[in-house]
Amino acid sequence: MNPGGVIVVSAEFCVTIRAILLVSDVETHTNLVADLRKLRSPMRWTQTFIPTLKEVPSDAEVPSHQLMLRSGMIRQLMAGAYTYMPLGYRVVRKVTEIVREEMDRAGGVELFMPALQPIELFERTGRKEAFGNVLFNFETKRGDRKLHFALGPTHEEVITDLVSRELKTYKQLPVTLYQIQTKFRNEERPRFGVLRTSEFLMKDAYSFGSSLEQLNDAYDAMYNAYCRIFERCGLEYIPVEAESGPIGGDASHEFMAPADNGEDFVVRCKSCGYAANQERADTGRTSSTPAKVDGAAEPQKVATPDAGSIDDVSRMLKADAATFIKTLIYVADGKPVAVLIRGDHEANEGKVRRALDATSVELADEATIEKVTGAPVGFAGPVGIKCAYIADHDIAQIASAITGANEKDAHLTGVVPGTHFELSETFDLRNADAGDPCPKCDATLEIVHGIEVGHVFKLGTKYSESLDANYLDSEDKKHPIIMGCYGIGVTRVVAAIVETCHDEGGIVWPMSVAPYTVELIPLNVTDEEVMAAVNKIYDELKEAGIDVLMDDRDQRPGFKFKDADLIGLPVRVVVGGKGLKEGNAEIKLRTDSEATMVPIGDAVAHVKNLINTNMPSARS
Ligand code: ATP
Ligand code: MG
Repeated sequence: MNPGGVIVVSAEFCVTIRAILLVSDVETHTNLVADLRKLRSPMRWTQTFIPTLKEVPSDAEVPSHQLMLRSGMIRQLMAGAYTYMPLGYRVVRKVTEIVREEMDRAGGVELFMPALQPIELFERTGRKEAFGNVLFNFETKRGDRKLHFALGPTHEEVITDLVSRELKTYKQLPVTLYQIQTKFRNEERPRFGVLRTSEFLMKDAYSFGSSLEQLNDAYDAMYNAYCRIFERCGLEYIPVEAESGPIGGDASHEFMAPADNGEDFVVRCKSCGYAANQERADTGRTSSTPAKVDGAAEPQKVATPDAGSIDDVSRMLKADAATFIKTLIYVADGKPVAVLIRGDHEANEGKVRRALDATSVELADEATIEKVTGAPVGFAGPVGIKCAYIADHDIAQIASAITGANEKDAHLTGVVPGTHFELSETFDLRNADAGDPCPKCDATLEIVHGIEVGHVFKLGTKYSESLDANYLDSEDKKHPIIMGCYGIGVTRVVAAIVETCHDEGGIVWPMSVAPYTVELIPLNVTDEEVMAAVNKIYDELKEAGIDVLMDDRDQRPGFKFKDADLIGLPVRVVVGGKGLKEGNAEIKLRTDSEATMVPIGDAVAHVKNLINTNMPSARS
């Protein structure tokens, strides 16, 4: 590298040395470091590494994956693992910085924990089992000693263990600690580029408090910080209710970026703004109890040999699944209970649990099912069943239903709810669907797809109890610390922005997170006059601290314009040709169809104005 022994120093290094020599106070030093960062930002295309692709890669299914590959932002190492190339990494850094600023603003304190963790912590919280295969864990040896490690999928265990050792009294609470760090999850199906990977960058924060009030304050501060983060990133988002918790109220919200290819379902009401994920969403359906039908014909028993699923029976009897009553046997707090759901619907376990006011609910095993139905699995029905049952609201609307006969290979047809089995109250027991009435107003619900970009959660004392993280109150009494956890998938946010901000030509970056703010294009790099004008603008932008990428490749203008649209920098400045002859630069936003002619001398002022007026800012 340096065979002659001559010490080669870069210009930047000289500036640094001079800065260090001259600087005596911290503030000036900080300013100089900031200046250095600015100086590092501008770049010439020929000196960086942006391998754009003309073709759409065949294995990329969704726009963000295609565009991030085509724009040279990412390259795959193996399924679920990607390299962030220089362009991609700049976006990751910009998003990271916005996240960090807002966490600090909300009172979070940054630290950094190991990704490598002892398995024992996960054994103590029961999450070795709960994560199952998703947890990367492995044994290794140090000398003769066998060691068992996990790679952190998140850090509740590590941080609670730390806090259990370091925080002792209520006087040290509340505190919210956070980090920005790589997480590891052995996802069953890593897919969609960096939307779902087996290692990804997450901001994870944890709040510790001595009262529910402190928990709620920390939660609200994080919730508001999340709104500000997504707004500053130029990402559309919907905060949705995600879970109601044992400690009361809404225990959790997910932040969803609405996108056609999102893997999550968001139930929302356009009219009043109600939004929840599909598991959590209530419906405005109400209990109805059908009147007893006098003189209704008795149900008919029909043979359904070996047909134990709704699909099988509906095919055999040529009947619509919506006319079936599905009878699911659960065990709630140790007691069997049947749950009646319309044949084409899915039961929602959380709703079942709440309707029964139970702490634990799980599907019953075969022996329990046989005991309460007198038949093997697949033939349960409400008529004559030997356990309590509850029914979903929609059951009351079925005039004549098909149900299991509680007998092997047999079903009943012509079962009238409220007549052939009692129905004194019905409940909301299924997932909400499009067209259901809104639980909060008179309008109807719709379903949109979303990408989960963040999640805030009131944990309570689950981890502090299992890891002995306690505080002493003013009377020296010991209590478990009350916790919350708050995650943002930083790399998923980057992909979600691309997924929602693009057109047929390529990415359309919001000003705040673009890898560079300005793309400066000389039409002809061999023309001295063009290059003199371009270099002047480049230097001035650089001086103003604006991120600029100069496409100094010796290529046709059309080729460069295509790449400019693909990598999607917000402001494009073109210099050369007829425009330059008339003393102008052509300036346009990525979203404009036509450029504006601006006198060369005013170009930088014009760019600055465009940046100021188009920078996304926090509304909240
Ligand atoms: P998902 O339901 O999408 O698997 P999760 O609910 O398991 O996500 P959390 O444990 O809530 O994820 O993690 C916090 C955030 O980390 C998520 O809101 C998401 O933005 C991000 N995230 C989670 N898993 C991945 C992944 N495999 N790849 C990229 N980002 C992820
Ligand atoms: Mg989540």
